Amino acid sequence: DTEEAWRPFNRSMVYMADLESALHYSLRVELSAHPVFKGETLNALKSYISVLAKYFPGRPVVVNLLKSVDSWLQDHTGAEVSYAALREQLDNSGQVPDAALPEGVRWVGCQGSKPYFRRYPCGVWTLFHVLTVQAQSSAGSEPQEVLQAMAGYVRNFFGCRPCAEHFSNMVQESLAEVHSLSIAVLWLWSRHNRVNNRLAGAPSEDPHFPKIQWPPPELCSGCHGVKKSGEHSWNQEQVLAFLLSHFSSDSLLTDYLE
Ligand code: FAD
Repeated sequence: DTEEAWRPFNRSMVYMADLESALHYSLRVELSAHPVFKGETLNALKSYISVLAKYFPGRPVVVNLLKSVDSWLQDHTGAEVSYAALREQLDNSGQVPDAALPEGVRWVGCQGSKPYFRRYPCGVWTLFHVLTVQAQSSAGSEPQEVLQAMAGYVRNFFGCRPCAEHFSNMVQESLAEVHSLSIAVLWLWSRHNRVNNRLAGAPSEDPHFPKIQWPPPELCSGCHGVKKSGEHSWNQEQVLAFLLSHFSSDSLLTDYLE
C-alpha cells in the first residue's frame, strides 16, 4: 500500500538485505500456507533448512537461528510438523541466546520499479546462487545437495506454480548430470539464463531490469566469446570464476541491514 522510499544500490553487487528478506518471506510467509508438513513436504522442509544451516553466509545471529531450527527439525522424529511449531522456532520463542531472523522485507538489489516486479523471486534466485557457491567453496561431498534442496523447495512450496513446473522439468531433464560442486554452480547459472531467455519481453519483465543473458560483458567480458561460426559462446571457466567471486560471502554488501 504505502510506497517505500527507493534504496540506491549498485547493480553489480549482491546484498545481504535481499538474502535476509528472501529468508523472511520464504519462512514466515510462503511456508505459512502449509499448516502441516508430512511425507514429501516434511522431507523438502528438512533439506531446505539443512542447507540453509550449513551454507547461509549470514550474520552470526541469523546463522545461529538457522542452526537451532535445523537441529530442532532433525531431532523431530514424529511423522508431522505443524507450521505453528516451526514458527515458534523461527521466532525463537525458546530464547536460544543470540539467535534471530529479522522480521520483514527490505529489498535492495531486488527492488523493482513497481511493487509487482522483482522482489521475492529475485531473492530466491540470489539465495540459491549464493548457496551453490558456498557449498562449492566449503568443499562438501554431495554435488547435488543444494540443488536438490532448491528443487524440493520450489516443487513443494514456491508460490508461483507455473514457475515450479518449468523448474521441475529442467531438474528432471538434467540435474542427474551434476557430478561436482562446480558443475552445480554452473548448472543453476545456465538454467537461470534459460528462464531469462524464455521471459525476455514477457509482462513480468521489469522494464528497468530487462532479462538478459547474464553476466553481461560489462560485468565479465572474459565470460563471452565468439565461435568460428560467428555464434556467441560462453567461456565456462571464466563464468565459473566470475560466479564464485560475484556470489561469494566476501562480496556480499551489508548496506540497509537493521
Ligand atoms: P531474476 O531473474 O530474478 O534474477 C535476479 C538477479 O540474479 C538478477 O538481477 C541478476 O543480478 C542475477 N542473474 C540474472 N541471471 C542470472 C544467471 N543466469 N545466473 C546468475 N545470476 C543471474 N517467472 C515467470 O514469469 N515464469 C516462470 O516460469 C518463472 N520461473 C521461475 C523459476 C524459479 C525457480 C524462480 C526462482 C523464479 C521464476 N520466475 C518465473 C521469476 C523470474 O525468473 C524472475 O525471478 C522475476 O521475473 C524477477 O526478475 P529479475 O529482473 O529480478 O531477475
